[in-house]
Amino acid sequence: MGAMAECLFCRIVVREVPGRIVYEDEHCVALEDINPQAPVHILVIPKRHMDSMAQVTAADGELMVHLLLIVNRMAKEKKIIDRGYRTVINTGSAGGQSVYHLHLHLLGGRPMHWPPG
Ligand code: 5GP
Ligand code: ZN
Repeated sequence: MGAMAECLFCRIVVREVPGRIVYEDEHCVALEDINPQAPVHILVIPKRHMDSMAQVTAADGELMVHLLLIVNRMAKEKKIIDRGYRTVINTGSAGGQSVYHLHLHLLGGRPMHWPPG
């Protein structure tokens, strides 16, 4: 089995592992985080496997903008677009990344604090 076949989020994308998917298009999936840190906690993930933000290059520019726009779309759907929300990409071990398939966190529905710790 290759690395992608063993990747949790790749398996959620192809429905080998269940996930509460709230949005899907040809490039990405958005799903509810299994361990929410806020009333709204959605992960936006590209369908194409990328380990982390550290692998992103200019060639991925369109995809990255698309992922950000889907974050906004989800924030609108959850009615937090006007109140405000936080978008997070944890990268690598010191960055707090635990799942090595690129994902954007959308967090909101409560005041978010700074620094994030
Ligand atoms: P990271 O720490 O890599 O930035 O974020 C990984 C996120 O994935 C965490 O917020 C964690 O709760 C979430 N997560 C881990 N396993 C699963 C899963 O099986 N399903 C879903 N929906 N989220 C998961
Ligand atoms: Zn993957």
